[in-house]
Amino acid sequence: MSQLQPARGTHDLIGEEHRRHHRVIEVARRIATLYGFEEWATPIFEDTRVFSRGLGDTSDVVAKEMYVFEDRGGESVTLRPENTAGVCRALVSNGLTQGGLPRKVFYAGPMFRYERPQKGRYRQFHQIGIEVLGAPEPLADAEVIACGWQIQQELGIEEGTILEINTLGDAPSRDAYRAALVGYFTGHAEALSADSRMRLEKNPLRILDSKDKGDRALIADAPTIFDHLTPEAAGFFETVQRHLTRFGVPFRVNPRIVRGLDYYSHTAFEFVTDRLGAQGTVMGGGRYNGLVEEMGGPATPSVGWAAGVERLALLVEAAGLTPPAPRPVAVIPVGDAAEGPALDLLQALRQSGVIAEIAYRGNTKRRMERANKIGAGAAVILGETEIAEGVAVVRNLDAGTQERVPLDDIVRALAETGVVDSAVEAMLAEMLEAEEDEDEAPTP
Ligand code: ATP
Ligand code: MG
Repeated sequence: MSQLQPARGTHDLIGEEHRRHHRVIEVARRIATLYGFEEWATPIFEDTRVFSRGLGDTSDVVAKEMYVFEDRGGESVTLRPENTAGVCRALVSNGLTQGGLPRKVFYAGPMFRYERPQKGRYRQFHQIGIEVLGAPEPLADAEVIACGWQIQQELGIEEGTILEINTLGDAPSRDAYRAALVGYFTGHAEALSADSRMRLEKNPLRILDSKDKGDRALIADAPTIFDHLTPEAAGFFETVQRHLTRFGVPFRVNPRIVRGLDYYSHTAFEFVTDRLGAQGTVMGGGRYNGLVEEMGGPATPSVGWAAGVERLALLVEAAGLTPPAPRPVAVIPVGDAAEGPALDLLQALRQSGVIAEIAYRGNTKRRMERANKIGAGAAVILGETEIAEGVAVVRNLDAGTQERVPLDDIVRALAETGVVDSAVEAMLAEMLEAEEDEDEAPTP
């Protein structure tokens, strides 16, 4: 059999790629918590009807990209292409639509779309996202966007992205706009792509989202929604912008943004970048007012976004902000008699939160080589003399300096080398500070 490869459009996350991926999710989780979001995890596959709701859905995702299959029991199930529908389904299934709203949800996990793979576009990819469920107020829109922006700030990539916002108005605005668009595009129907001619009948707004070159030229001169907004819809959009300004979030208005899925109204937005080629959208979202109802729940106006973890991770890489590998401490016994005490020390270090490693075999030279190979910042060397004296040699592998340290003082000595893993460093720094505070505390 030929060498097995990951399935087309899927990829393994290993080493620094995994560290970037992990960092994106951890930062997003932390910032979402600051904004009052709680994390939910919904199933990776759902009843197909959660995503495909009747014939009205003209988005690429639902029309062409879903992994749909019949399971062994003959049920049609779909690997989730996005998580908003799943979260709304979960709100209804768990009886959370009455009281307790708004509900603020964060999620992270894999999504699946049958697409042509390229850089930043995969068949299994990952999203982080947030939803505020049950909030008609424009402050929710602004808060959701500010949260997304702060995540990018915290990742150090916000200079590479631009926030573009638009409004899709309310139903009367959109009806009027739809009529204007149909008028315009019908006049140019022969120049439209086949996909867009189909959209012209079903959902002309979606033409604005077309990636076809010929379509894009027509779209540039198409009417915008701003001439068709009701005073209420215009006021809503102005309030969102006012709050964004207040939150210090920079943005520009782009009347061409409509978003990929069909259920949006009022606010639509994207964070775009010119650093990822054709895959220019890193985060996209907006307000959707009918989705919970479509899941069988009551009217629940909501707003949220989703972002591609791989695309954010590519920006982290381009910014040179790949997190370094953690630096362990290598415990090195010298001689057979030191092996037992070395294992005691290894265990004690790990129990105190220090990343520690021991080679499974080898003489002292080999073990030192191994310590360098795994990027250890320090080695703790234990020989028979040291054991007899109740000490160990702590060697700073970067500086090449070393000292003999009493066994019960090893964690502090390691912290002072400054070359152990940074997460641990923070913990140790705290510990040292606490000790100092104790020293300084006035004796009664
Ligand atoms: P695109 O226009 O790039 O196809 P989309 O409009 O289909 O994106 P959404 O459904 O809004 O994307 O998903 C939100 C985010 O998820 C996107 O902005 C992108 O960062 C990411 N994303 C979407 N599809 C993929 C994919 N196939 N591979 C990697 N990331 C993706
Ligand atoms: Mg897409």
